Amino acid sequence: MRADLGARGRVDWLLRMPPEVERAHERDFGPARIRHLRHAIIVGLIVYNIYNLTSLHLMGDIQPFTVAMRLFLLTPGSILIFLLVSRLPAAWREVLLLQGMFTASLLPLYLVYISQSPYASYTLGELPLVLLFGNMLLVLRFRWALIFTTVTCLTALWVIHIKPGLDENLIFPLTVQVITGLFFTLYGNWHFERQRCLTYLAQYDAENRADRAERIGDALRDLTRTDTLTGIANRRHLEETLDGWLKSRPSVLLMMVDVDHFKAYNDRLGHLAGDDCLRRIAAALSAFAARHEGFAARYGGEEFTLLFAVDSETGGAFLADRLVRTIRDCAIPHPGRPDGLVHVTVSAGYAGADRDRDALTLVTRADLALYEAKSAGRNRSKAG
Ligand code: GH3
Ligand code: MG
Ligand code: MG
Repeated sequence: MRADLGARGRVDWLLRMPPEVERAHERDFGPARIRHLRHAIIVGLIVYNIYNLTSLHLMGDIQPFTVAMRLFLLTPGSILIFLLVSRLPAAWREVLLLQGMFTASLLPLYLVYISQSPYASYTLGELPLVLLFGNMLLVLRFRWALIFTTVTCLTALWVIHIKPGLDENLIFPLTVQVITGLFFTLYGNWHFERQRCLTYLAQYDAENRADRAERIGDALRDLTRTDTLTGIANRRHLEETLDGWLKSRPSVLLMMVDVDHFKAYNDRLGHLAGDDCLRRIAAALSAFAARHEGFAARYGGEEFTLLFAVDSETGGAFLADRLVRTIRDCAIPHPGRPDGLVHVTVSAGYAGADRDRDALTLVTRADLALYEAKSAGRNRSKAG
C-alpha cells in the first residue's frame, strides 16, 4: 500500500514516469511492447482493410481513390511502422505510432468530406473503432492518446458540421457517437496506462529496496569480517578462509607473524604511534599476500596470520624469509629496541597442511615455530 502511494506521487497527470524509471521500464518491457505492437499492427491492418470494403458501397463515387489509398498509403505505411518499431528509440517509436494513427483516422474523415455519395456519412461509424484500436489495442502512451483522440474528434465534429448535404437528423447522433467513442476509449487508455505506470513504479521501488538491503547486508557482513584498526581481514574471516582452503586446496601454508619488541615501541612512542605502526605493517603484509595470491589477516594484538596455497617444503622458507625482509625494508624507526636494531621487524613461524588438515593443529605448529624464531633472536623465520 505504501509503495503504491509512493508510486502515485511520481507519475504526472500525463502518466509520465521519471526519466530513469522510463529507461528501466523500456529495458524490462521494451521487447514485449514491440512484440505486442507488431501483433496489433497485423491484426489492425487486416480488420481495417476488411472494414474498409464498406466504402465500396458507401462512397461509390470515389471508389478507385479509396482503394488506392488503402493499397498505396495505409498498407505500406503500416508495414513500414511494423518494421520500424524495433529499430527506433522508445520515444520515437511511440511518436511514430501516433503518426500512423493520425493517418488511419484522418484519411477516412477526408474521404467522407470529399465524397458526394449520400451514404458517405455512414462511414463515420468506423471512427470509434479506429479510436478503440489506437487507444486500447495499441495502447498509445496516454499523452499521445490524448492528442490523437482530441484531434481526431475535433476533425470529425468539424466534418459532421460543415459537410454539405448531410441529413440534419444525423448530425446529433453522429456527434454523440464521436464524443462517447472519445470518452470511452480515452478513459480505457488512461486506465491501462495508469495501471502500467503504478505497477511498474511499485516494482521498481521494491527492486531498489531489495538492492539496497542487499548492499547493506554485504557491508555489514564485510564489517563483521574486517579488523577495525587495520582494515584487513579479522580473525573470524581468517577462520572461515582457512576452513575453506583446507577443504579445497591441495597445499596450504600458514604463517604466524609477530611484531618484535612491540611493547617497547608503544612504551617509547605511545599507543597512537603503535596503532599507526600496526596499520603500516598490516598494509605491507596485505600487499605481500596479494602479490603471492595469499590471504592476510590480523590474528589479534600485534600478531598477523598469512595463508598461501603453496607446499611448505618448496615455498615455505622462501616466502617466510621474503616476508621478514619486506617488513624490515619498510624501515619504520623503532627507537626503543633492546637489541641494537633501529627499525621495526617481525618474526615468523610457518607450517604446511600437507600432512594434517586440521586448522587448530596447523596454527599450533606455526605458533611453536614462531616461538622458536623469537628465541633464536627475532627478525627471522622458522619452519614448524
Ligand atoms: P616480542 O618481540 O617477544 O613479541 O615482544 P613484544 O613486546 O612485541 O610482545 P608483548 O607480548 O610483550 O607485547 C605485545 C604488545 O603489543 C603489548 C600490547 O600493548 C601491544 N599491542 C597489542 N595490540 C595493540 C594495539 O592494537 N595497538 C597498540 N598500540 N598496541 C598493541
Ligand atoms: Mg605477541
Ligand atoms: Mg610481539
